[in-house]
Amino acid sequence: MKKTVTTLADGRELIYYDAGDGEARGGYPDRRPLEPAHRNAQTRFDELQGEWVAIAAHRQDRTYKPPADQCPLCPSTEDRLTEIPAPDYEVAVFENRFPSLGGPDGGRCEVVAFTSDHDKSFADLSEDEVALVLEAWADRTGELLARPDVTQVYCFENRGEEIGVTLSHPHGQIYAFPYVAPKMDRAVSRAAAHRARTGRNLFDDMVEREAADERVIEQNEHWIAFTPYAARWPYEAHLYPKRRVADFTELDDAQRAAFAPIYLSLLRRFDGLFPAADGGPGRTPYISAWHQAPKRAPGAQTEVALHAEIFTVRRAPGKLKYLAGAESGMGAFASDTTPESAAIALRGAGR
Ligand SMILES: [Zn+2]
Repeated sequence: MKKTVTTLADGRELIYYDAGDGEARGGYPDRRPLEPAHRNAQTRFDELQGEWVAIAAHRQDRTYKPPADQCPLCPSTEDRLTEIPAPDYEVAVFENRFPSLGGPDGGRCEVVAFTSDHDKSFADLSEDEVALVLEAWADRTGELLARPDVTQVYCFENRGEEIGVTLSHPHGQIYAFPYVAPKMDRAVSRAAAHRARTGRNLFDDMVEREAADERVIEQNEHWIAFTPYAARWPYEAHLYPKRRVADFTELDDAQRAAFAPIYLSLLRRFDGLFPAADGGPGRTPYISAWHQAPKRAPGAQTEVALHAEIFTVRRAPGKLKYLAGAESGMGAFASDTTPESAAIALRGAGR
């Protein structure tokens, strides 16, 4: 893999990742007249909930559903300059121009463009292209976690307008939090309590239990995917490497090689749940959330297991699950499907 680090006109960092080593991406300066980047996001602590909240008012001005010919993630051309100055790229990562984090309190938000092809979706990538995305995630995780102002690195993809995606070009994001995010914080506490009570790892015990149950969706030698026992979303899949690792940087070569086939297969299952009008695969809105061990939380680095939680808010054709009074108001989920039937549907939706 070749990595080329450059700087955009407003001082933000842009990094190209290429599978080969012959591409020279660095020779294309950003020729746009940009205002300095926003660096005024704040983090505030909610005493009642014990949770951090990011405050970023400038995000109200962010790019919202631009037409395809004004996409900021397509490569630049002679007459149209985008966030990516090079005329082509494989994977490109850059600091978000409208970040939720990254003010005086620290942290950083990055955008990961998975491919230069505007009309693709992650599930359309080749296994080699997915392998490069994985290398980029691992590199970013290692580099961001090494920063003194970063505590947890969260890689995720939102796909579909129903999720609130404002750019249709295939891309994900990385939030490098200056704190431990609320959901991770609870998992760290639960894992510590489980260790104290049983002497064992909570994630290992849970994956072992799920592997023996009826909600397994698919597995290969190194990875396993299942719908969890207490799934919250209409269709949900959790993907774990069978040998527990803390984050992307700890995956070995065999785990990395076995990743692309199963991840692509899972995403295609989600698309297969709700076929398009012509009977082909649909474009199911989903969130793919990568949980990685934070640093500096006692025990987290040794207890938390890298895994993805992939879920859709679509519960039936044309029907979405909304987070209403119980979920948004009280954090109490009620699922409209059984996890067992969701696992059967996902197993049957493969292609
Ligand atoms: Zn595009």
